Amino acid sequence: MARPSCSLFGTFLTYYRGQRHLFVADLVCAFVVASVDLAFPQILRALTAGLFARGSDAILGVLLYLGVGLVCMYALRFVGRYFVIFWGHVMGARMESRMREDLFDAYQRMSFSYFDRHKSGDLMSRLISDLFDISEAAHHGPEYLLIGVVEIVGSFVILGTINAPLTGVLVLIACLLVAYNVYANWRMRSVYTENRERISQVNSRLEDSLAGIRVVKSFAAEDVERTKFRRSNTAYLDSKTRMYRAMGRYQAAIAAMMGGLNTVVLVMGGWLIAQGQMVPADLATYALYISLFTTPITSILDFTETLQKAIAGFKRFCEVLATQPDIQDKPGAPALLVSRGAISYHNVHFSYNFAATAAAPSAGGEEVIRGLDLDIEAGKTVALVGPSGGGKSTTCALLPRFYDVTSGSLTIDGQDVRDVTQRSLREAIGLVQQDVYLFDGTIAENIAYGCPEATLEEIHAAARRANIADYVESLPDGYETEVGERGSHLSGGQKQRVAIARVFLKNPPILIFDEATSALDNESEQAVQESLSELSRGRTTIVIAHRLSTIKGAQEIVTMEHGRVVERGTHEELLSRGGTYARYYRMQFADGSEDVA
Ligand code: ADP
Repeated sequence: MARPSCSLFGTFLTYYRGQRHLFVADLVCAFVVASVDLAFPQILRALTAGLFARGSDAILGVLLYLGVGLVCMYALRFVGRYFVIFWGHVMGARMESRMREDLFDAYQRMSFSYFDRHKSGDLMSRLISDLFDISEAAHHGPEYLLIGVVEIVGSFVILGTINAPLTGVLVLIACLLVAYNVYANWRMRSVYTENRERISQVNSRLEDSLAGIRVVKSFAAEDVERTKFRRSNTAYLDSKTRMYRAMGRYQAAIAAMMGGLNTVVLVMGGWLIAQGQMVPADLATYALYISLFTTPITSILDFTETLQKAIAGFKRFCEVLATQPDIQDKPGAPALLVSRGAISYHNVHFSYNFAATAAAPSAGGEEVIRGLDLDIEAGKTVALVGPSGGGKSTTCALLPRFYDVTSGSLTIDGQDVRDVTQRSLREAIGLVQQDVYLFDGTIAENIAYGCPEATLEEIHAAARRANIADYVESLPDGYETEVGERGSHLSGGQKQRVAIARVFLKNPPILIFDEATSALDNESEQAVQESLSELSRGRTTIVIAHRLSTIKGAQEIVTMEHGRVVERGTHEELLSRGGTYARYYRMQFADGSEDVA
C-alpha cells in the first residue's frame, strides 16, 4: 500500500510500480504513432515535389516501394495504436484497482467516529468517480504528453525548414489559440463544477428515495418524492444545457480560429509562391502539418481539465489514506484473555465530539457519559434502563471500543480494553441489536458471517439454538435460501433469530443486547426472547431493555440518567425503593404499555 506520508506526486508514482514494462511499452508505441503521423506529409511532399517531375517510368518503380513502405508504416501505426488504447487503459485500470483496494482497506480500518463524520454517498463517490478520473489521467497523461510533444516539436521543426516566415505567423496564431483555450477552460470550470454538484444531488436523492422506499410507500408519498426528484433532475438538465452551450461556443470558436489559420496560411503561402519563395508542394505539405501542430496543443490544454479533476480526486484519496483511525491497537498489545468475563466501568467520561474535534482548538463537546461507575459480575445478566438519550447504548458501545472513553477506565477481567488487541476484544463480545443487518447471500452464509470456517453441522446447530432451524428447514432451499437485500425476504423476528444464530456460532463469553426485541411484535418477541435467554446462559450479558419482559430475566437492573447510574438492584428492590425505576414502572402501568425506557 502507498505510504500516506509521501508527497502527492511521490504517492502517485508508487502506483506505476509493477506497471513499468507496460508504461515504457505504452510510451514507445505512442512515439511510433506520432512519428508515423509526422512522416506522412513529408512523404507526400517528396512525392509531389521531386518524384512527379521524373516521368512516369520512374514513378511506377518508386510507387511500388512507396506502397509497400506505407503499408509497413501503417501496420506499425495500427499495432502502436492498438497497444496504446488497449494496454494503456489496462494499465490505468490496474492502477485504479490497486487504489480502490487501498481505499477500501483504509475504510475498513477507520473507527466509528469517521463514519459518523462522513456520508456514505461521499465515501462511495471517492471509491468510484474520483478513482476513475485518476486512472484516466494516469494512462492518458503520459501518452498525450508524449504524442503531443513529439507532434508539436516535430511539426514545428519541419514547418520551420519549409518556410520560416510563415512558421512565425503560425506560432503567433497558435499563441492566440492557447490563450483562448486557457480562458475558455477557466470559464467552463465553474460550469463543470456545477454539473458535478448537480449529478451528485440527483444521485443522493435517488439513494435516499430508494433506501427509504418502504417509508415512502407507507406514507403514500410517491408524489412528494417524484416532485423532489424532478426538481433535482431539472436542475441537472439545466446545468447540462449550460455545459453544452459553453462546449458548443468553445468548439465553434476553435474551429473558426483553425479556419482563420488555414486562410492566413493559404493567402500568405500563395503570395510567397507568387514571389518565388515557396513551391506549391511545400504549401500543400504545410497545410497538412498545421493540424499536426495545433491539434495536440488543444488536446493537451483540454487534458488539463481531466488532470485537474484527477489531482482533486487524488488529494481526497491521499487524505483518506493519511487519516489515522481514532482507535488503534497499542504496539505489541496482547490479546484479551477472558477467564470469567467480569466487566468494570470506573469513573468513565465520554463525549462524542471529543475525537472529532481533537485536532481543532475547540476540542471537547458535551459529555454523554459523566463519571460512570459500574461493575458487572461474571456470568450475570444486567439490564440498563432509563430515559431515551440517557447513555445506555453509548455505555455498551464503549465496551468493544467502538469509541474510546475520554477519561476513566473500562476493564474486562482486569484488563483495560485499550491495552488489548481490538480483534481479540471484539471476538469476546457478541452484539445483538435492534437493527439487524443481513448481508446479501444465503441464510447459511449469514449465520456463518465472521466464522467462515464453520461446518454445516455447526451452522445447523446454531440455527437450532436460535429457534430458527424449523423455519429454515421448511423452506424449499433450506439454508441456501437467499435473504434478499438487507434480509428483505425474512420477517423482523426471523432476521433477529438469524442474527442470534450468528452469535451462537461465534460463542463469545460476553453479550450485549441493544434493544434486540424492541422492533418485534409480541409473538416474535417471545420466540426471540427465548433464544436470547438460551444465548445468555453462563455469559456476562448487558441488556438494554425497552420492554419489561426483557428486564425480568435480568439478575440486576441499573437505571441510567444523564450518563450516570442513578440506582441499581433487583426488580423488587428497586420497586420498593420508590425511585426512578419505580416511577417508570408506575408510568408504564398508568398508560397500559409495557415500555419502560
Ligand atoms: P440511550 O441509549 O440511553 O437512548 P444513547 O447512548 O443512544 O442513549 O445517546 C446518548 C446521547 O448521545 C444522546 O444525546 C445522543 O443524541 C448522543 N449520541 C448518540 N450517538 C451519537 C453519535 N454517534 N454521535 C453523536 N452523538 C450521539
